[in-house]
Amino acid sequence: PVPHDIAPLSAAASEALFARAKAVTPGGVNSPVRAFNAVGGTPRFIREAKGAWLTDVDGNEYVDLICSWGPMLLGHAHPEVQAAVLEAVTRGTSYGTPTTPEVELAEAIVERAPVEKVRFVSSGTEATMSAIRLARGFTGRDVILKFAGNYHGHVDSLLASAGSGLVTHAIPGTPGVPESSTELTVVLPYNDRAAVTAAFETYQGRVACLITEASPGNMGVVPPEPGFNQFLSETCKDNGALFISDEVMTGFRASKQGQWGIDGKHEGWTPDLVTFGKVMGGGFPAAAFGGRADVMGSLSPDGPVYQAGTLSGNPVATTAGLTTLRLATDEVYDHIGKAAETVKEAIVESFTKVGLPHVIQSTGTMFSVFFTDRPVRNFDEAKTTDEAAYKAFFHAMLDQGVYLPPSAYEAWFLSSAHDERALSRITEALPYAAEAAAK
Ligand code: PLP
Repeated sequence: PVPHDIAPLSAAASEALFARAKAVTPGGVNSPVRAFNAVGGTPRFIREAKGAWLTDVDGNEYVDLICSWGPMLLGHAHPEVQAAVLEAVTRGTSYGTPTTPEVELAEAIVERAPVEKVRFVSSGTEATMSAIRLARGFTGRDVILKFAGNYHGHVDSLLASAGSGLVTHAIPGTPGVPESSTELTVVLPYNDRAAVTAAFETYQGRVACLITEASPGNMGVVPPEPGFNQFLSETCKDNGALFISDEVMTGFRASKQGQWGIDGKHEGWTPDLVTFGKVMGGGFPAAAFGGRADVMGSLSPDGPVYQAGTLSGNPVATTAGLTTLRLATDEVYDHIGKAAETVKEAIVESFTKVGLPHVIQSTGTMFSVFFTDRPVRNFDEAKTTDEAAYKAFFHAMLDQGVYLPPSAYEAWFLSSAHDERALSRITEALPYAAEAAAK
């Protein structure tokens, strides 16, 4: 049983490392969310991970609900993935030539996802950046449409905020992005069909592509309303634009066939281009974009649109990804789905008991919790979440050995390694954390 007064875990070694890190790295981290700025406190420096568990440099153990922000579908240090990677490393780590595992991983992706050809890159950011270049090259058009609250990596033209009018070009989302990089981007409210129609009217004959998270997970999980992706696909087609479905987060995660396996397959539409990352890299830097053979045929060296990468299709990374996809059977998704149900039920029970407002939203095996009392369909509604309550909740969970994403606007990730022992740690911690958040 967990003590009612939750004592903070020792973080002395993490604190010392954080101080050293801050001296040599901006904010002490290599990706901003890791710095705990949204929740305060000291980020835990992780020494090792196995299955569903993380161990930090102070020796504290946590159940991991981040799973490297999605990739670790099978949990950490899965014995078969590890063995395949160790074997691959003995044969060298990068040749700059074509290799067998990249062909096999491409075949595995084409078999599962609605794409005919894929090209490998090293991050999701590169995947979306390249997909947009390809869409512009293929269509000969320049305008791109995206949705507010959808994250596609740190591509200049996609780090854009909505402009002043509903359908006007976007403004840079960060210093360092010139206006010229976002003036061809239009940012629209998510799940809003009228806004999409209006944008296509305003920019008639100029829209190269519309890019959307297949089911947004970067403002918390905000699924497309039924038929929304189908509407986007059809509207793009009617207007000669390409429909880019960003499955970097949902791909091989929300279901075996990603978000497309949840809505596309039965609604009967197929994206023109899809971006992948996270799970398909098995915990290594590997990502991809793919799609229609004729569109992919515009890519260098078959076609005129240039794209390349020294480490693209890296043999160790593609071996990790291939082994992960081979092990990601129906049973794995069933297990993660059931584990998610267990956690969600425990959240509802413990939050209800203390009167803490909550809305849980899911797509397939992915879910997140909004600390609000109304359904969330877009970015403005996501922002109604109570950040202060999340902060208290986060730390109460952390001190009970559960590592949640250090931000209120993230999906919670589980793996096939989240067994009864790991789930019990979560369900036992929840009532106390809910109480701390309700204060
Ligand atoms: N697209 C989506 C939907 C993502 O969730 C992310 C990362 O979280 C990216 C793109 C960018 O991927 P990466 O961080 O590998 O550059």
